[in-house]
Amino acid sequence: MKQYSPNSPRHSLPRSEAEPLLEIRGISCNYDLERAVFDFSLTVHRGEQVCLLGPSGCGKTTVLRAIAGFHPILTGSILINDQQVSAVKNMVPPEARRVGMVFQDHALFPHLTVRENIAAGLDQLSAGLRGESVGEMLDRMGLGHHADRYPHELSGGQQQRVALARALAPKPLLLLMDEPFSSLDQELREHMGQEVSDMLKESGTTCVMVTHDQNDAFALGDKVGVMSEGAIVQWDTPYNLYHQPQTHFVADFIGNGVFINGQCEDKKQVNTSLGMLQSDIALDWSNDADIEVLLRPDDVVYDPEGPIIAKVTRRAFKGAQIMYTLRTLDGVKLLALFPSHANFGIGDEVRVRLDVDHLVVFEQNSVVD
Ligand code: ADP
Ligand code: MG
Repeated sequence: MKQYSPNSPRHSLPRSEAEPLLEIRGISCNYDLERAVFDFSLTVHRGEQVCLLGPSGCGKTTVLRAIAGFHPILTGSILINDQQVSAVKNMVPPEARRVGMVFQDHALFPHLTVRENIAAGLDQLSAGLRGESVGEMLDRMGLGHHADRYPHELSGGQQQRVALARALAPKPLLLLMDEPFSSLDQELREHMGQEVSDMLKESGTTCVMVTHDQNDAFALGDKVGVMSEGAIVQWDTPYNLYHQPQTHFVADFIGNGVFINGQCEDKKQVNTSLGMLQSDIALDWSNDADIEVLLRPDDVVYDPEGPIIAKVTRRAFKGAQIMYTLRTLDGVKLLALFPSHANFGIGDEVRVRLDVDHLVVFEQNSVVD
């Protein structure tokens, strides 16, 4: 796991960064009798920024609410800074957990100025300290010129910064962010993702973000937990989630791609209707096993001499590249990312070859719907 420079947040105790700050041990949460989170575990170390990524309804917000102390747990426990804050019969109230939260819609107070919004969580401080703390956050977030504006007088990105400043002003041990970039447009979203990531890393803030958007997750999370139906199905780096997904669900959810059927020929080869694919590592399947192979769009390479002939059925221009949906003469659908100069129209015939280094293979029909 990546280690950060020893810029521990000023509010944290002088401890090693490798120590866990948040430990979630096998928690489950329901809404009435409906299960939302099941046997969920997660450890976040001091100074780490991690992300939970999953489709709508998989339980992301519920996990954050449980950490913040807004939702009871039915099994397991949650520890923050070695202190049990949630157990079946022990709920430390939210205000005693030293957790800051940024909500999906920013939830700024519309009738308060930027300065007053940031000061809102600091009523326990003297007026002098409160002013100092707000001033520091205004500076850090580049909001100094907007201190006396109201939320409706700010852009989406500025509102986002105010929400972050308000959550960080009380110097929480842990920052939680629920889909923090979802109300921003795509360009601003990427920019803010990077900016927030830099800021959190520089200050050594420990953070858990949840999102359904993989770009947001990859911008912010050094480690990402992909969630499905109330549990983490893979906890990994963004690189491994893309290149070595452990389940069909993760492969499907992260990035683009298609699955083609094949049979294991021997431990290092898979026979498919598009030819024999070589694996760089021995496959853990018996000979003749019916399997499916993941093909990412960058595995399908434009090659005028290539062995596979396919017709273009869709194209999406992406600037430097074009994403094509292709159908082979045998009716196999492929996604292919070509350089932009390989410019074809719908119905055109193209030739491709497969260039797959690392085969990602699952049992056929491994998806349980
Ligand atoms: P996510 O944030 O990943 O979209 P949530 O944690 O909000 O997911 O929801 C998890 C599950 O709990 C979903 O099935 C959702 O319908 C259900 N749920 C969430 N909030 C409530 C609620 N207030 N009452 C009843 N069910 C809820
Ligand atoms: Mg949610």
